[in-house]
This record gives sequence, structure tokens and C-alpha cells, in this order.
Amino acid sequence: VSATQIFTEIDFERTGKQVGWLYLPHSVTRSAYGNIAVPIAVIRNGSGPTVFFMAGTHGDEYEGQIALCNLIRSLDPGMVQGRIIAMPAANLPAALAGTRTSPIDDGNLNRAFPGDPTGTPTQQIAHFIDQIIFPLTNYYHDFHAGGASLDYVPFVSMRMSGDPALDERAMAALKACRPSDGLTWKYSHGQGFCVMAAMQRGIVALGGELGGGGSVNLCGVAMAERAIQGLLAHAGVVAPAIDKAPPASVPRLWEVPARSYYVLAPAAGLFQPVVELGAQVEAGMECGLVHFVDDPGRSPVSVEFRASGMVMAKRHLGRVERGDCVSHLATEWKG
Ligand SMILES: [Zn+2]
Repeated sequence: VSATQIFTEIDFERTGKQVGWLYLPHSVTRSAYGNIAVPIAVIRNGSGPTVFFMAGTHGDEYEGQIALCNLIRSLDPGMVQGRIIAMPAANLPAALAGTRTSPIDDGNLNRAFPGDPTGTPTQQIAHFIDQIIFPLTNYYHDFHAGGASLDYVPFVSMRMSGDPALDERAMAALKACRPSDGLTWKYSHGQGFCVMAAMQRGIVALGGELGGGGSVNLCGVAMAERAIQGLLAHAGVVAPAIDKAPPASVPRLWEVPARSYYVLAPAAGLFQPVVELGAQVEAGMECGLVHFVDDPGRSPVSVEFRASGMVMAKRHLGRVERGDCVSHLATEWKG
């Protein structure tokens, strides 16, 4: 069925815990018969659904990478009824470089689906996940953060599939992750998203932004670990854990309805935000200023919000080009 070139010693059907690699042929000067070894773990016991966790889709988003490494080391197969598949560094070259896209092909794994078995390494990884792992999967969680360029209020997210029954199941799974904030993306920046590809296969699929700035957000790691426990319990794959300090059980629910909730830099320069993450703003309020340090007599350009809501994300890096996202808002979830 699949023409993937990726090979592995991992057996998705075997009982027990396997930690190994997906080998993607990559012939280069330093290694004629070399392979990119993408880490993967499969933990299987008894019968039950399959939950697939992924992080390192973007290499500079770290909270999920840490949470999944912790999961892989700590889980005893005897605790599992069903199957857990975990890829903590899905786009390995990007994860090792600490970059959003792969340094090999500039590939963005979260824009590469459904992938291509004869394409670049990033396209091949996407194809393997879409063709080999998604058909095994009932529940999927892909962990993100803002990366180098953005900071986020941490949240767990879902996307609208067009199937109300699947969306309802995704919202139930989101709530089971017990985040302080939950968000529904109704607007998408581009195409080729992992979560959308999963939803097209009827998988209950979640995402989330757990921090940003190319750093490790402590609350974000905790949110990822709570989400892993919550989703595994919700799926019936692992018995519910008893938290020492359970978070608020009802998340605040948000949505991003349209492109107008994004604010773009109108010019190249140095961006000064004037609002903090989590602030409530109205359309027409100032979001920030673009300064021209090479022409100090020139007045800075003001950038305004075009919608009302909460500041969910803001730019982390100071320098901007025209068209860079400097902030985006979310508004209360309308269902
Ligand atoms: Zn990301």
C-alpha cells in the first residue's frame, strides 16, 4: 500500500515496550549509506485503543518533547490496556538543531501532510505518519509551542473537522486534558497540518501551544504531562492518575475565528509590544509600534488590533519584517 522508504525494527503489534527508531535513508558526504534515525516508542498491552503522541513537529518547541521523553521512560506496559505510540522528536533534524523547520530541507512538518514517500526528509516523515501510524490511531495529540518567534498563553487546542460528532469527541478529549485554557482553531494559517490530516481519518485529534520564545515553559511542561495522563485515562488506556494538586477542572474556552484576529507588522523594523500576554483588548486599540533605529528622526508606525479578545500570542523576537505576525487574539468559544 505504502511506498515509504522508511524502515524500522519496531513492531507496532508486539506486546511490551519498544524504544527504537524510524530509519529514513539519507545519503550524504559524511555517510554514504546513512539514515536519519527518528525516535519512536510503542507500548502495548492487552486490548484497547491506540493513543499517538507527537512532539518536536517543530524543533524549537520543547515542552512536549520533554513530556514525551518522561512518558516513554516511566510507563510500565503493565499499566496499559491498548497501545501508546510516542514520537518525541518527530522532525528529528529540526529538533536537534532547535529550529522550527528542518535544516536539511527547510521542511515544516506541520505544513507537510499528507507528505510524499519520494519527497524531502520532512515530506517522507509526514507520509510515514499519515500512511502507517494514523491508520493505527484512535486518539492523537500533537504538542506545540510558539517556538523562537512567538510567546503563548499555554493551552490545549482542537480544530473543526466539519463532522459535528467528531468535533464533540475532540472537545470531550480536550476537557479530559484538564488545561487551564482550551482553544478551537477556526482559522488556519496555510494547509498541510498534522491534526487536520488525522481528523480526515476520523481520529480524535488535539494540539496545543505550551509556551514559546524557544524556551522551556514550566507550566507548559506540566500542562503537557497533565494532558498525557488525562487523554490516556479518557481513552481507557491507562487508569486515571491522582494529581497532588489538580488544576481547575473546567478550562476557559477560546476560539480563533478569522484571520482578522492576527496582527501583522506593517513595515520592517524593531517591534515594541504595548500589551502583555493575557490582556483583554478591543478592536482599534494599539498592539505595538515599529521603530526605525537606522532613521531615528522617523516616527514609529503604530499597529492596531482589528478584533476584540484576549492576547493569546505575541511576538518574542524584536526585529520584524513586513507581514510577520506580532500578535494574535482569541475570543470566547461560541461552540
Ligand atoms: Zn509548532
